[in-house]
Amino acid sequence: MTAERKIVEISEAMEEIPGGNRGLLYEENLLWEKERSDEPGVDLPEPEGIKLRTGQPARGDIGLPQVSEPQVMRHFVRLSTWNYSIDHGFFPLGSCTMKHNPRLNEKIARFPGFAHVHPLQPESTAQGALRVMFELQEILGELTGLPGVCLAPAAGAHGELAGIMTIRRAHDAKGQSHRNIMLVPDSAHGTNPATAAMCGYELKVIPTKETGRMTVAAFKEALGDGKNVAGMMVTNPNTCGLFESDILEISKLLHEAGGYFYGDGANFNALVGKARPGALGVDVMHINLHKTFSTPHGGGGPGSGPICVTKDLAPYLPVPVVEKRGETFRLAYEDERKETMGRLKGFTGQFGMHVRALSYILSHGADGLKQVAEDAVLSANYILSQLKGDYHAPFGGPCMHECLLTDKFQKDSGVTTIDIAKTLCENGIHPMTVYFPLVVAGAMLIEPTETESKDSIDRFITVMKKIAADVKAGDTDKFHNFPENTPRQRLDEVTAAREPKLRWRA
Ligand SMILES: *Cc1c(COP(=O)(O)O)cnc(C)c1O
Repeated sequence: MTAERKIVEISEAMEEIPGGNRGLLYEENLLWEKERSDEPGVDLPEPEGIKLRTGQPARGDIGLPQVSEPQVMRHFVRLSTWNYSIDHGFFPLGSCTMKHNPRLNEKIARFPGFAHVHPLQPESTAQGALRVMFELQEILGELTGLPGVCLAPAAGAHGELAGIMTIRRAHDAKGQSHRNIMLVPDSAHGTNPATAAMCGYELKVIPTKETGRMTVAAFKEALGDGKNVAGMMVTNPNTCGLFESDILEISKLLHEAGGYFYGDGANFNALVGKARPGALGVDVMHINLHKTFSTPHGGGGPGSGPICVTKDLAPYLPVPVVEKRGETFRLAYEDERKETMGRLKGFTGQFGMHVRALSYILSHGADGLKQVAEDAVLSANYILSQLKGDYHAPFGGPCMHECLLTDKFQKDSGVTTIDIAKTLCENGIHPMTVYFPLVVAGAMLIEPTETESKDSIDRFITVMKKIAADVKAGDTDKFHNFPENTPRQRLDEVTAAREPKLRWRA
């Protein structure tokens, strides 16, 4: 069957069931709206003759709704079904790497030896757990080409904080504390400038608007004489989904000026197993285990953002770091690692995520990880090739693991990125990342990942093509009212943001 025929078939199927979720949704009131005064939630009589012995004030009426146990149960279970997730369907959020989390990882993380290990138990009784962490450190060091690894940070942004503090510690140790400037391209993820500012650095922006990539000339201009430059924070591939092709020359110039290169590793899915960021000049990099290595995002579990650094920077890493002495694994803290930037997290970080990531890595093997990157890039380029006639592709192609489109072709007819995103909701598809990166107007950043089937990618392409065709045909009014099939319709997002109502009142 040719690709073209398949798309037509899916499109016909869509005519029958335009909303993937239609008919499966429950409207849900607030619990207070359900309560009935004649149906108390708890029907125990007041205890007689018992005095409170806890010394706490007696509990008055705290305004909990009077609902029965089954009502409470159904209320929260229904709400939980509104929580869209990668286990529901396609989730093409650019920059977020929403890939399938293999259940094998969950199974391994639930082994009692892993699930019940206690952070305060003696190291001699937790050798298996420490070995898991040590092996993960070693593998992340190998994959990045950055051999100093600390698993402690609890998310990508936390890893950025750890990494930039490591850089600052290194400058302090070398008598370079005066370096107060951090270079950041304008396409950066918001956490990069936020981290630099939190660490007290002054930001200097490298413009990339015209090309989507950093040029050597723009970098040189931002670097100036470089005497006060502490470092540069860059993600590669960048947030436009493009590989920074001048990175070797740029990192060389940065190093010559005495700065460190912080690599934001959130986009490592495009490179894993194919290229080592250390070889591109990166000195410090965080890894989002919950992106590249498939551990759950957010609600499904805590994130995890290990950092990897060069041998030179390793002494400044946060603690604890797992070490191997002979056949014994142990945690090294500040009493032994005197140059450390300090401690950022209780105990060892998110151990359950370390287990899941190692399980993912070992079950893929070196060849499997390489294929992850190849297939992620292939999926994104397939979407780009199919949609670039219908939507404006600001930087042409090919792309890396995500593709960037804009609403330039649509916007004169009044249909903009937000309308396109809401129309995807109407059709049962979670939208892409919208209005990011900030360097292009009306951005739509699409990251399909390697775990989506061609069918689900084709369905997305079909709906996107239909939207573009309807706009072209002048059928535009409907777009401003979508979504109509979802439990909540179009929100007044400006008022919601400016005058948030955070508390229910009768
Ligand atoms: C996701 C992301 C981050 C932040 O990671 P969190 O784990 O969400 O804190 C930083 N940079 C980029 C490019 C990202 O996509």
